[in-house]
Amino acid sequence: MNIILLGAPGAGKGTQAAIICDRLHIPTISTGNIIRAALKSGTEMGLKAKSYMDEGKLVPDEVVIGIIKERLAEDDCKNGFVLDGFPRTIPQAEALDSMGIQIDKVIDIEVSDEEIVGRLSGRRVCESCSDTYHVAHHPPQEEGKCDKCGGTLVQRKDDHPETVNDRLRVYHEQTEPLKGYYEKQGKLFEVKGEGDIGDITRLTLAAIEA
Ligand code: ADP
Ligand code: AMP
Repeated sequence: MNIILLGAPGAGKGTQAAIICDRLHIPTISTGNIIRAALKSGTEMGLKAKSYMDEGKLVPDEVVIGIIKERLAEDDCKNGFVLDGFPRTIPQAEALDSMGIQIDKVIDIEVSDEEIVGRLSGRRVCESCSDTYHVAHHPPQEEGKCDKCGGTLVQRKDDHPETVNDRLRVYHEQTEPLKGYYEKQGKLFEVKGEGDIGDITRLTLAAIEA
């Protein structure tokens, strides 16, 4: 099963992807995580992407399309995958179609902008394994430490309040039109993304199994 998780930054795509992928034994592919890893290891692509990311803008289509093409060609994607954070523009979705990648379901996680602001300001991520927490809604067992791997939890630079409004604006302008794109293909499923994380997982799995 090839799945896309759609939704605003902070809608809970990464949180849901981690749970779903564990259950279905398929990989999550997060372009954001791939770019952050490239930046950490100082590659040319990572350094180029940094200024876009820091300002809450999208990295150019050709860069992320190249990343996804390479990643989806790897062996572990053969039995399915969940895309988290790709596509984010219509040209990216068209590129996926023209690569001959068959998408089965697109799950759109709906969360209001007001809720997003609180979620992103409290988000903490593991700098080793990228697992995601929230200081109030989903705290780790030990403050500042990842439950899964013991790594250090940090705040993403683009989660600071001054960048969040820009990211939401970019989402509404460039990513939200993808809902119509996939609705026309009959692949769109909407899930209400506010409330208990476990309840949202149940709704998401029900949409996947529908
Ligand atoms: P995305 O991958 O869509 O950017 P995340 O999965 O990183 O979003 O979630 C954003 C933040 O909101 C994280 O801090 C996460 O722990 C928290 N979060 C995720 N789902 C919920 C929920 N249902 N209720 C409250 N907080 C949530
Ligand atoms: P994320 O971790 O998904 O919130 O992504 C963090 C940042 O990485 C975004 O704000 C963009 O700057 C960049 N990025 C990730 N995925 C994409 C994409 N599909 N298209 C363009 N930029 C992306």
